[in-house]
Amino acid sequence: MAKTLHHFIGGKKVSGAPNGPNGGRAGEIYNPTTGEKSAMVPFASKAEVEAAIANAQEAFKTWGTTSPVTRARVMFKFKELVEKNIDELAMLISNEHGKVLADAKGSVQRGLEVVEFGCGMPHLLKGDYSDSVATGIDVYSMRQPLGVVAGITPFNFPAMVPMWMFGIAIPAGNCFILKPSEKDPSCPLRLAELFMEAGGPPGVLNVVNGDKVAVDTILNDPRVQAVSFVGSTPIAQYVYETAARNGKRVQAMGGAKNHMIVLPDADMDQAVDALMGAGYGSAGERCMAVSVAVPVGEKTANTLIEKLAPRVRALKVGPSTAKDSEMGPLVTRQHYDKVRGYVDLGVKEGARLVVDGRDLRLQGYENGYFMGGCLFDDVKPDMRIYKEEIFGPVLSVVRAKDFDAAARLPTEHEFGNGVAIFTRDGDAAREFAQKVQVGMVGVNVPIPVPLSFHTFGGWKKSAFGDTNQHGPEGVRFFTKIKTVTARWPTGIRAGADFSIPTLK
Ligand code: NAD
Repeated sequence: MAKTLHHFIGGKKVSGAPNGPNGGRAGEIYNPTTGEKSAMVPFASKAEVEAAIANAQEAFKTWGTTSPVTRARVMFKFKELVEKNIDELAMLISNEHGKVLADAKGSVQRGLEVVEFGCGMPHLLKGDYSDSVATGIDVYSMRQPLGVVAGITPFNFPAMVPMWMFGIAIPAGNCFILKPSEKDPSCPLRLAELFMEAGGPPGVLNVVNGDKVAVDTILNDPRVQAVSFVGSTPIAQYVYETAARNGKRVQAMGGAKNHMIVLPDADMDQAVDALMGAGYGSAGERCMAVSVAVPVGEKTANTLIEKLAPRVRALKVGPSTAKDSEMGPLVTRQHYDKVRGYVDLGVKEGARLVVDGRDLRLQGYENGYFMGGCLFDDVKPDMRIYKEEIFGPVLSVVRAKDFDAAARLPTEHEFGNGVAIFTRDGDAAREFAQKVQVGMVGVNVPIPVPLSFHTFGGWKKSAFGDTNQHGPEGVRFFTKIKTVTARWPTGIRAGADFSIPTLK
Protein backbone atom coordinates (compact mmCIF):
# COMPACT_ATOMS: atom_id res chain seq x y z
CA MET A 1 0.00 0.00 0.00
CA ALA A 2 1.37 3.38 -0.97
CA LYS A 3 1.83 5.65 2.06
CA THR A 4 0.64 9.25 2.06
CA LEU A 5 3.27 11.86 2.79
CA HIS A 6 2.76 15.26 4.39
CA HIS A 7 4.27 18.71 4.72
CA PHE A 8 6.31 19.78 7.73
CA ILE A 9 5.23 23.20 8.93
CA GLY A 10 5.68 24.93 12.25
CA GLY A 11 7.46 21.91 13.71
CA LYS A 12 4.67 19.45 12.88
CA LYS A 13 3.65 17.02 10.19
CA VAL A 14 0.80 18.66 8.30
CA SER A 15 -1.44 16.66 5.98
CA GLY A 16 -2.09 18.05 2.55
CA ALA A 17 -5.49 19.72 2.15
CA PRO A 18 -7.76 16.86 1.03
CA ASN A 19 -10.23 19.00 -0.86
CA GLY A 20 -8.73 22.43 -0.74
CA PRO A 21 -9.20 25.19 -3.27
CA ASN A 22 -6.78 23.34 -5.54
CA GLY A 23 -8.68 20.10 -5.17
CA GLY A 24 -6.07 18.61 -2.83
CA ARG A 25 -3.66 17.87 -5.64
CA ALA A 26 -1.02 15.18 -5.13
CA GLY A 27 1.83 13.47 -6.95
CA GLU A 28 2.75 9.82 -7.18
CA ILE A 29 6.11 8.41 -6.11
CA TYR A 30 7.42 5.14 -7.50
CA ASN A 31 10.22 2.89 -6.34
CA PRO A 32 12.48 2.95 -9.42
CA THR A 33 13.85 -0.52 -8.69
CA THR A 34 10.44 -2.21 -8.82
CA GLY A 35 8.31 0.34 -10.66
CA GLU A 36 5.74 0.05 -7.85
CA LYS A 37 3.93 3.06 -6.45
CA SER A 38 5.34 3.70 -2.98
CA ALA A 39 3.75 6.97 -1.88
CA MET A 40 1.48 9.87 -2.63
CA VAL A 41 2.87 13.33 -1.96
CA PRO A 42 0.54 16.27 -1.40
CA PHE A 43 1.08 19.29 -3.63
CA ALA A 44 0.75 22.41 -1.51
CA SER A 45 -1.75 25.06 -2.50
CA LYS A 46 -0.90 28.75 -2.39
CA ALA A 47 -2.64 28.99 1.01
CA GLU A 48 -0.61 26.11 2.44
CA VAL A 49 2.68 27.64 1.32
CA GLU A 50 1.59 30.99 2.73
CA ALA A 51 0.85 29.31 6.07
CA ALA A 52 4.40 27.94 6.10
CA ILE A 53 5.83 31.37 5.29
CA ALA A 54 3.76 32.91 8.11
CA ASN A 55 5.10 30.28 10.52
CA ALA A 56 8.66 30.97 9.45
CA GLN A 57 8.16 34.70 9.82
CA GLU A 58 6.85 34.25 13.35
CA ALA A 59 9.77 31.96 14.25
CA PHE A 60 12.25 34.49 12.86
CA LYS A 61 11.33 37.00 15.60
CA THR A 62 13.14 34.79 18.09
CA TRP A 63 15.57 32.75 15.97
CA GLY A 64 16.96 35.82 14.22
CA THR A 65 18.09 37.27 17.54
CA THR A 66 19.10 34.01 19.22
CA SER A 67 22.82 33.94 19.94
CA PRO A 68 24.83 32.41 17.07
CA VAL A 69 26.41 30.04 19.59
CA THR A 70 22.99 28.69 20.61
CA ARG A 71 22.01 28.33 16.97
CA ALA A 72 25.27 26.49 16.24
CA ARG A 73 24.62 24.11 19.14
CA VAL A 74 21.32 23.07 17.55
CA MET A 75 23.22 22.38 14.32
CA PHE A 76 25.86 20.33 16.18
CA LYS A 77 23.08 18.20 17.66
CA PHE A 78 21.39 17.93 14.25
CA LYS A 79 24.67 16.71 12.74
CA GLU A 80 24.93 14.07 15.43
CA LEU A 81 21.37 12.87 14.76
CA VAL A 82 21.89 12.72 10.99
CA GLU A 83 25.02 10.63 11.57
CA LYS A 84 23.09 8.33 13.90
CA ASN A 85 20.30 7.89 11.34
CA ILE A 86 22.41 7.87 8.19
CA ASP A 87 21.49 4.31 7.20
CA GLU A 88 17.78 5.08 7.37
CA LEU A 89 18.26 8.32 5.40
CA ALA A 90 20.30 6.52 2.74
CA MET A 91 17.59 3.87 2.44
CA LEU A 92 14.91 6.54 1.94
CA ILE A 93 17.02 8.07 -0.84
CA SER A 94 17.78 4.75 -2.55
CA ASN A 95 14.13 3.70 -2.51
CA GLU A 96 12.85 6.89 -4.11
CA HIS A 97 15.82 8.05 -6.22
CA GLY A 98 17.36 4.73 -7.21
CA LYS A 99 20.99 5.55 -6.44
CA VAL A 100 22.86 2.73 -4.72
CA LEU A 101 23.11 2.76 -0.94
CA ALA A 102 26.81 3.58 -0.64
CA ASP A 103 26.35 6.53 -2.97
CA ALA A 104 23.22 7.68 -1.11
CA LYS A 105 25.13 7.55 2.15
CA GLY A 106 28.02 9.50 0.63
CA SER A 107 25.61 12.19 -0.54
CA VAL A 108 24.22 12.61 3.00
CA GLN A 109 27.81 12.87 4.21
CA ARG A 110 28.62 15.61 1.67
CA GLY A 111 25.56 17.55 2.83
CA LEU A 112 26.59 17.10 6.45
CA GLU A 113 29.94 18.67 5.67
CA VAL A 114 28.09 21.90 4.93
CA VAL A 115 26.27 21.57 8.26
CA GLU A 116 29.70 21.18 9.91
CA PHE A 117 30.87 24.33 8.16
CA GLY A 118 27.68 26.10 9.33
CA CYS A 119 28.43 25.06 12.91
CA GLY A 120 31.26 27.61 12.72
CA MET A 121 28.72 30.40 12.23
CA PRO A 122 29.67 32.39 15.36
CA HIS A 123 33.07 32.85 13.75
CA LEU A 124 31.75 33.28 10.20
CA LEU A 125 29.40 36.09 11.24
CA LYS A 126 32.15 38.16 12.86
CA GLY A 127 32.40 41.57 11.29
CA ASP A 128 35.29 44.01 10.92
CA TYR A 129 36.22 46.85 13.24
CA SER A 130 38.23 49.97 12.38
CA ASP A 131 39.28 51.96 15.36
CA SER A 132 39.55 55.79 15.19
CA VAL A 133 38.91 56.32 11.48
CA ALA A 134 38.57 60.00 12.41
CA THR A 135 38.74 61.81 15.71
CA GLY A 136 36.59 59.82 18.12
CA ILE A 137 34.98 57.82 15.31
CA ASP A 138 35.02 54.03 14.98
CA VAL A 139 33.52 51.90 12.21
CA TYR A 140 32.30 48.34 12.57
CA SER A 141 30.38 45.92 10.43
CA MET A 142 28.11 42.99 11.20
CA ARG A 143 26.36 40.28 9.20
CA GLN A 144 22.67 39.93 9.92
CA PRO A 145 20.18 37.29 8.77
CA LEU A 146 17.72 38.11 6.00
CA GLY A 147 14.53 36.68 7.55
CA VAL A 148 12.45 34.07 5.73
CA VAL A 149 14.43 32.40 2.95
CA ALA A 150 13.58 29.49 0.68
CA GLY A 151 15.31 26.58 -1.03
CA ILE A 152 13.92 24.78 -4.08
CA THR A 153 15.80 21.57 -4.76
CA PRO A 154 16.21 18.88 -7.45
CA PHE A 155 15.53 15.15 -7.31
CA ASN A 156 19.11 14.02 -7.65
CA PHE A 157 20.39 15.04 -4.20
CA PRO A 158 17.42 15.01 -1.82
CA ALA A 159 19.61 15.34 1.29
CA MET A 160 22.80 17.03 0.13
CA VAL A 161 21.41 20.02 -1.76
CA PRO A 162 18.88 21.00 0.96
CA MET A 163 21.74 20.82 3.49
CA TRP A 164 23.94 23.01 1.24
CA MET A 165 21.29 25.64 1.77
CA PHE A 166 19.75 25.33 5.23
CA GLY A 167 23.09 24.16 6.69
CA ILE A 168 24.15 27.77 6.32
CA ALA A 169 20.91 29.75 6.25
CA ILE A 170 19.62 28.44 9.58
CA PRO A 171 22.70 28.90 11.80
CA ALA A 172 23.05 32.35 10.20
CA GLY A 173 19.68 33.16 11.82
CA ASN A 174 17.20 32.76 8.96
CA CYS A 175 14.04 30.68 8.93
CA PHE A 176 13.80 28.31 6.01
CA ILE A 177 11.12 27.05 3.64
CA LEU A 178 12.29 23.97 1.74
CA LYS A 179 10.43 22.92 -1.40
CA PRO A 180 12.12 19.61 -2.23
CA SER A 181 11.68 17.66 -5.44
CA GLU A 182 8.28 16.01 -5.67
CA LYS A 183 10.04 12.85 -6.88
CA ASP A 184 11.83 11.96 -3.62
CA PRO A 185 10.65 14.05 -0.66
CA SER A 186 10.82 11.42 2.11
CA CYS A 187 14.44 12.11 3.07
CA PRO A 188 14.01 15.92 3.33
CA LEU A 189 10.89 15.37 5.48
CA ARG A 190 12.91 13.13 7.80
CA LEU A 191 15.67 15.75 8.00
CA ALA A 192 13.10 18.29 9.22
CA GLU A 193 12.00 15.87 11.96
CA LEU A 194 15.61 15.38 13.03
CA PHE A 195 16.08 19.13 13.15
CA MET A 196 13.18 19.36 15.64
CA GLU A 197 14.63 16.48 17.65
CA ALA A 198 17.88 18.43 17.78
CA GLY A 199 16.09 21.28 19.52
CA GLY A 200 15.31 23.40 16.45
CA PRO A 201 12.39 25.69 17.28
CA PRO A 202 9.12 25.17 15.36
CA GLY A 203 8.93 27.19 12.15
CA VAL A 204 12.69 27.48 11.64
CA LEU A 205 12.82 24.63 9.10
CA ASN A 206 9.62 23.99 7.13
CA VAL A 207 9.12 21.57 4.25
CA VAL A 208 6.35 22.22 1.76
CA ASN A 209 5.86 19.63 -0.94
CA GLY A 210 4.57 20.50 -4.32
CA ASP A 211 5.11 21.68 -7.84
CA LYS A 212 4.97 24.95 -9.76
CA VAL A 213 2.13 26.28 -7.58
CA ALA A 214 4.31 26.04 -4.47
CA VAL A 215 7.36 27.43 -6.28
CA ASP A 216 5.43 30.37 -7.73
CA THR A 217 3.99 31.22 -4.32
CA ILE A 218 7.51 31.34 -2.88
CA LEU A 219 8.77 33.46 -5.78
CA ASN A 220 5.96 35.98 -5.47
CA ASP A 221 5.50 36.29 -1.70
CA PRO A 222 7.06 39.55 -0.46
CA ARG A 223 7.89 37.97 2.92
CA VAL A 224 10.45 35.65 1.31
CA GLN A 225 13.73 37.55 1.20
CA ALA A 226 15.94 35.15 -0.73
CA VAL A 227 15.57 32.10 -2.94
CA SER A 228 18.21 29.45 -3.47
CA PHE A 229 17.44 27.10 -6.36
CA VAL A 230 19.13 24.02 -7.79
CA GLY A 231 17.67 22.19 -10.78
CA SER A 232 17.52 22.26 -14.56
CA THR A 233 18.56 25.32 -16.55
CA PRO A 234 15.17 26.43 -17.93
CA ILE A 235 13.64 26.40 -14.43
CA ALA A 236 16.76 27.99 -12.90
CA GLN A 237 16.46 30.85 -15.37
CA TYR A 238 12.73 31.21 -14.68
CA VAL A 239 13.30 31.20 -10.90
CA TYR A 240 16.14 33.69 -11.22
CA GLU A 241 14.19 36.11 -13.37
CA THR A 242 10.94 35.88 -11.39
CA ALA A 243 12.52 36.14 -7.94
CA ALA A 244 14.84 38.97 -9.03
CA ARG A 245 11.92 40.88 -10.55
CA ASN A 246 10.22 40.60 -7.18
CA GLY A 247 13.24 42.15 -5.48
CA LYS A 248 14.58 38.97 -3.91
CA ARG A 249 18.14 37.87 -3.58
CA VAL A 250 18.50 34.77 -5.76
CA GLN A 251 21.04 32.12 -6.64
CA ALA A 252 19.91 29.53 -9.19
CA MET A 253 22.07 26.60 -10.27
CA GLY A 254 21.22 24.84 -13.52
CA GLY A 255 22.20 21.92 -15.72
CA ALA A 256 25.57 20.80 -17.00
CA LYS A 257 27.63 19.04 -19.62
CA ASN A 258 30.91 18.24 -17.96
CA HIS A 259 33.95 17.35 -20.07
CA MET A 260 36.95 15.31 -19.10
CA ILE A 261 40.00 15.93 -21.24
CA VAL A 262 42.52 13.12 -21.48
CA LEU A 263 45.96 14.08 -22.74
CA PRO A 264 48.27 11.46 -24.29
CA ASP A 265 50.54 11.45 -21.22
CA ALA A 266 47.71 10.70 -18.76
CA ASP A 267 47.71 7.54 -16.66
CA MET A 268 45.12 5.78 -18.83
CA ASP A 269 44.01 3.27 -16.20
CA GLN A 270 43.42 6.06 -13.74
CA ALA A 271 41.51 8.01 -16.41
CA VAL A 272 39.32 4.99 -17.20
CA ASP A 273 38.55 4.40 -13.50
CA ALA A 274 37.66 8.08 -13.22
CA LEU A 275 35.36 7.96 -16.25
CA MET A 276 33.56 4.89 -14.94
CA GLY A 277 32.76 6.48 -11.57
CA ALA A 278 32.06 9.97 -12.86
CA GLY A 279 30.14 8.89 -15.95
CA TYR A 280 28.02 6.05 -14.58
CA GLY A 281 27.88 6.64 -10.79
CA SER A 282 24.33 7.51 -9.71
CA ALA A 283 23.33 6.44 -13.26
CA GLY A 284 24.78 9.72 -14.54
CA GLU A 285 22.15 11.69 -12.61
CA ARG A 286 24.62 14.13 -11.09
CA CYS A 287 25.16 17.72 -12.13
CA MET A 288 28.89 17.02 -11.84
CA ALA A 289 28.76 13.72 -13.76
CA VAL A 290 31.24 13.54 -16.62
CA SER A 291 29.16 13.13 -19.78
CA VAL A 292 31.83 13.95 -22.38
CA ALA A 293 35.31 12.42 -22.59
CA VAL A 294 37.77 14.22 -24.86
CA PRO A 295 40.85 12.15 -25.66
CA VAL A 296 43.56 14.12 -27.45
CA GLY A 297 44.98 12.40 -30.54
CA GLU A 298 43.81 9.24 -32.30
CA LYS A 299 46.11 6.94 -30.33
CA THR A 300 44.81 8.21 -26.98
CA ALA A 301 41.22 7.89 -28.23
CA ASN A 302 41.71 4.32 -29.44
CA THR A 303 43.36 3.23 -26.19
CA LEU A 304 40.65 4.90 -24.15
CA ILE A 305 37.80 3.22 -26.04
CA GLU A 306 39.59 -0.12 -25.93
CA LYS A 307 39.93 0.06 -22.14
CA LEU A 308 36.60 1.70 -21.44
CA ALA A 309 34.17 -0.38 -23.51
CA PRO A 310 34.63 -3.70 -21.62
CA ARG A 311 34.34 -1.89 -18.32
CA VAL A 312 31.04 -0.28 -19.37
CA ARG A 313 29.73 -3.64 -20.53
CA ALA A 314 30.70 -5.18 -17.18
CA LEU A 315 28.95 -2.53 -15.05
CA LYS A 316 26.96 -4.21 -12.28
CA VAL A 317 23.51 -2.74 -12.71
CA GLY A 318 21.08 -3.84 -10.02
CA PRO A 319 18.55 -2.95 -7.33
CA SER A 320 19.57 0.26 -5.60
CA THR A 321 19.65 -1.40 -2.20
CA ALA A 322 21.65 -4.50 -3.23
CA LYS A 323 25.16 -4.47 -1.78
CA ASP A 324 26.96 -5.36 -5.01
CA SER A 325 25.14 -2.94 -7.36
CA GLU A 326 27.41 -0.33 -8.89
CA MET A 327 24.56 1.44 -10.65
CA GLY A 328 20.85 1.50 -9.88
CA PRO A 329 17.86 2.45 -12.01
CA LEU A 330 16.89 5.89 -13.33
CA VAL A 331 14.57 7.95 -11.16
CA THR A 332 11.25 7.68 -13.02
CA ARG A 333 9.74 5.97 -16.05
CA GLN A 334 9.48 9.39 -17.69
CA HIS A 335 13.17 10.09 -17.16
CA TYR A 336 14.07 6.61 -18.44
CA ASP A 337 12.13 7.36 -21.64
CA LYS A 338 13.91 10.69 -22.03
CA VAL A 339 17.38 9.17 -21.61
CA ARG A 340 16.56 6.29 -23.96
CA GLY A 341 15.25 8.83 -26.47
CA TYR A 342 18.64 10.57 -26.40
CA VAL A 343 20.45 7.29 -27.10
CA ASP A 344 18.14 6.66 -30.07
CA LEU A 345 18.81 10.21 -31.22
CA GLY A 346 22.59 9.78 -30.98
CA VAL A 347 22.39 6.75 -33.26
CA LYS A 348 20.30 8.76 -35.73
CA GLU A 349 22.73 11.66 -35.57
CA GLY A 350 25.52 9.35 -36.68
CA ALA A 351 27.48 8.81 -33.45
CA ARG A 352 28.90 5.32 -33.00
CA LEU A 353 27.19 3.45 -30.15
CA VAL A 354 30.03 1.28 -28.89
CA VAL A 355 28.13 -0.03 -25.87
CA ASP A 356 24.34 -0.16 -26.04
CA GLY A 357 22.66 -0.49 -22.65
CA ARG A 358 19.15 0.24 -23.85
CA ASP A 359 17.76 -3.24 -23.69
CA LEU A 360 19.03 -4.28 -20.31
CA ARG A 361 16.38 -6.30 -18.43
CA LEU A 362 16.87 -7.44 -14.86
CA GLN A 363 15.23 -10.69 -13.92
CA GLY A 364 12.71 -10.09 -11.17
CA TYR A 365 12.80 -6.32 -11.75
CA GLU A 366 11.27 -6.13 -15.22
CA ASN A 367 9.21 -3.07 -14.24
CA GLY A 368 12.19 -1.15 -12.83
CA TYR A 369 13.68 1.79 -14.73
CA PHE A 370 17.02 0.10 -15.46
CA MET A 371 19.29 1.03 -18.31
CA GLY A 372 22.77 -0.31 -18.86
CA GLY A 373 25.73 1.96 -19.44
CA CYS A 374 25.89 3.45 -22.95
CA LEU A 375 29.08 4.62 -24.65
CA PHE A 376 29.18 6.72 -27.81
CA ASP A 377 32.31 7.32 -29.88
CA ASP A 378 32.80 9.85 -32.70
CA VAL A 379 30.36 12.35 -31.19
CA LYS A 380 30.55 15.75 -32.91
CA PRO A 381 29.98 19.13 -31.27
CA ASP A 382 27.00 19.93 -33.51
CA MET A 383 25.02 16.88 -32.37
CA ARG A 384 22.19 17.36 -29.91
CA ILE A 385 23.53 14.52 -27.73
CA TYR A 386 26.63 16.71 -27.25
CA LYS A 387 24.87 20.02 -26.81
CA GLU A 388 22.08 18.96 -24.43
CA GLU A 389 22.16 17.53 -20.93
CA ILE A 390 21.07 13.86 -20.97
CA PHE A 391 21.36 13.14 -17.24
CA GLY A 392 21.69 9.39 -17.62
CA PRO A 393 24.35 6.66 -17.93
CA VAL A 394 25.46 7.84 -21.36
CA LEU A 395 29.06 8.87 -22.00
CA SER A 396 30.02 10.58 -25.26
CA VAL A 397 33.55 10.50 -26.60
CA VAL A 398 34.52 13.51 -28.70
CA ARG A 399 37.89 13.00 -30.35
CA ALA A 400 40.12 16.11 -30.44
CA LYS A 401 43.13 16.47 -32.71
CA ASP A 402 45.21 18.49 -30.25
CA PHE A 403 45.20 20.18 -26.86
CA ASP A 404 43.84 23.50 -28.17
CA ALA A 405 40.92 21.84 -29.92
CA ALA A 406 40.12 19.87 -26.74
CA ALA A 407 40.39 22.90 -24.47
CA ARG A 408 38.03 24.94 -26.65
CA LEU A 409 35.16 22.44 -26.22
CA PRO A 410 34.22 23.12 -22.57
CA THR A 411 34.90 26.82 -22.99
CA GLU A 412 32.58 27.09 -25.98
CA HIS A 413 29.83 24.89 -24.50
CA GLU A 414 26.79 26.76 -23.22
CA PHE A 415 27.06 25.02 -19.83
CA GLY A 416 30.01 25.60 -17.52
CA ASN A 417 29.54 23.61 -14.34
CA GLY A 418 32.52 21.26 -13.98
CA VAL A 419 35.45 20.09 -16.09
CA ALA A 420 38.47 17.85 -15.59
CA ILE A 421 41.83 17.36 -17.23
CA PHE A 422 43.89 14.18 -16.90
CA THR A 423 47.57 14.62 -17.59
CA ARG A 424 51.05 14.47 -16.06
CA ASP A 425 51.96 17.78 -17.70
CA GLY A 426 51.87 20.56 -15.11
CA ASP A 427 52.13 23.35 -17.68
CA ALA A 428 49.20 22.08 -19.71
CA ALA A 429 47.07 21.53 -16.60
CA ARG A 430 47.86 24.98 -15.25
CA GLU A 431 47.13 26.72 -18.52
CA PHE A 432 43.88 24.80 -18.85
CA ALA A 433 42.74 25.57 -15.29
CA GLN A 434 43.54 29.26 -15.78
CA LYS A 435 41.80 29.72 -19.09
CA VAL A 436 38.81 27.38 -19.21
CA GLN A 437 35.41 29.10 -18.95
CA VAL A 438 33.98 26.69 -16.39
CA GLY A 439 33.31 27.23 -12.68
CA MET A 440 34.85 24.09 -11.14
CA VAL A 441 37.99 22.44 -12.47
CA GLY A 442 39.57 19.11 -11.59
CA VAL A 443 43.18 18.21 -12.32
CA ASN A 444 43.29 14.41 -12.35
CA VAL A 445 40.12 14.67 -10.24
CA PRO A 446 37.00 13.74 -12.20
CA ILE A 447 34.28 15.24 -9.99
CA PRO A 448 35.75 18.42 -8.54
CA VAL A 449 32.96 19.20 -6.07
CA PRO A 450 34.54 21.73 -3.71
CA LEU A 451 34.52 20.95 -0.01
CA SER A 452 32.03 22.81 2.16
CA PHE A 453 34.43 25.60 3.18
CA HIS A 454 34.94 26.46 -0.50
CA THR A 455 32.17 27.54 -2.82
CA PHE A 456 30.25 25.39 -5.29
CA GLY A 457 28.94 26.85 -8.51
CA GLY A 458 29.17 26.79 -12.26
CA TRP A 459 29.41 29.47 -14.93
CA LYS A 460 27.37 30.40 -18.00
CA LYS A 461 24.03 28.57 -18.28
CA SER A 462 24.91 26.41 -15.25
CA ALA A 463 24.26 29.16 -12.71
CA PHE A 464 22.29 32.39 -12.52
CA GLY A 465 22.98 35.03 -9.89
CA ASP A 466 26.21 36.26 -8.40
CA THR A 467 26.75 34.17 -5.30
CA ASN A 468 27.19 30.44 -5.39
CA GLN A 469 26.46 27.67 -2.90
CA HIS A 470 28.07 27.18 0.52
CA GLY A 471 31.55 28.25 1.66
CA PRO A 472 32.10 31.99 2.11
CA GLU A 473 29.67 32.85 -0.71
CA GLY A 474 26.92 30.88 1.00
CA VAL A 475 27.37 32.93 4.16
CA ARG A 476 27.26 36.14 2.11
CA PHE A 477 24.15 34.97 0.29
CA PHE A 478 22.19 34.27 3.47
CA THR A 479 23.25 37.40 5.38
CA LYS A 480 23.31 41.10 4.78
CA ILE A 481 26.06 43.35 5.93
CA LYS A 482 25.48 46.40 8.09
CA THR A 483 28.19 48.97 8.75
CA VAL A 484 28.02 51.30 11.73
CA THR A 485 29.95 54.55 11.95
CA ALA A 486 29.92 55.70 15.57
CA ARG A 487 31.04 58.77 17.44
CA TRP A 488 30.53 59.15 21.14
CA PRO A 489 29.94 62.68 22.40
CA THR A 490 33.23 64.23 23.49
CA GLY A 491 31.93 67.68 24.27
CA ILE A 492 33.70 69.13 21.19
CA ARG A 493 31.20 70.70 18.80
CA ALA A 494 32.16 70.67 15.14
CA GLY A 495 29.14 72.71 14.07
CA ALA A 496 26.86 71.96 11.12
CA ASP A 497 28.70 70.85 8.00
CA PHE A 498 26.84 71.05 4.68
CA SER A 499 29.37 69.20 2.54
CA ILE A 500 29.85 65.43 2.39
CA PRO A 501 31.80 64.14 5.39
CA THR A 502 35.51 63.77 4.55
CA LEU A 503 38.45 62.89 6.73
CA LYS A 504 39.76 65.92 8.52
P1 NAD B 1 13.93 20.41 -12.23
O1 NAD B 1 14.38 21.73 -12.74
O2 NAD B 1 12.93 19.65 -12.99
O3 NAD B 1 13.31 20.58 -10.75
C1 NAD B 1 13.98 21.31 -9.74
C2 NAD B 1 12.94 21.92 -8.81
O4 NAD B 1 12.14 22.84 -9.55
C3 NAD B 1 12.00 20.89 -8.20
O5 NAD B 1 11.79 21.21 -6.85
C4 NAD B 1 10.74 21.04 -9.04
O6 NAD B 1 9.57 20.74 -8.33
C5 NAD B 1 10.76 22.50 -9.43
N1 NAD B 1 10.12 22.73 -10.74
C6 NAD B 1 10.08 21.89 -11.80
N2 NAD B 1 9.40 22.44 -12.83
C7 NAD B 1 9.01 23.67 -12.42
C8 NAD B 1 8.28 24.74 -13.03
N3 NAD B 1 7.83 24.64 -14.28
N4 NAD B 1 8.09 25.86 -12.33
C9 NAD B 1 8.54 25.98 -11.07
N5 NAD B 1 9.22 25.00 -10.43
C10 NAD B 1 9.46 23.86 -11.08
O7 NAD B 1 15.25 19.54 -11.98
P2 NAD B 1 15.35 18.01 -11.56
O8 NAD B 1 14.97 17.18 -12.73
O9 NAD B 1 14.69 17.77 -10.26
O10 NAD B 1 16.93 17.89 -11.29
C11 NAD B 1 17.86 17.61 -12.30
C12 NAD B 1 18.50 18.86 -12.82
O11 NAD B 1 19.13 19.57 -11.75
C13 NAD B 1 19.61 18.59 -13.83
O12 NAD B 1 19.50 19.53 -14.87
C14 NAD B 1 20.88 18.82 -13.03
O13 NAD B 1 22.00 19.18 -13.81
C15 NAD B 1 20.46 19.92 -12.13
N6 NAD B 1 21.32 20.03 -10.96
C16 NAD B 1 22.19 21.06 -10.91
C17 NAD B 1 23.03 21.20 -9.83
C18 NAD B 1 24.00 22.34 -9.78
O14 NAD B 1 24.48 22.61 -8.70
N7 NAD B 1 24.30 23.01 -10.87
C19 NAD B 1 22.99 20.25 -8.80
C20 NAD B 1 22.08 19.20 -8.87
C21 NAD B 1 21.24 19.10 -9.97
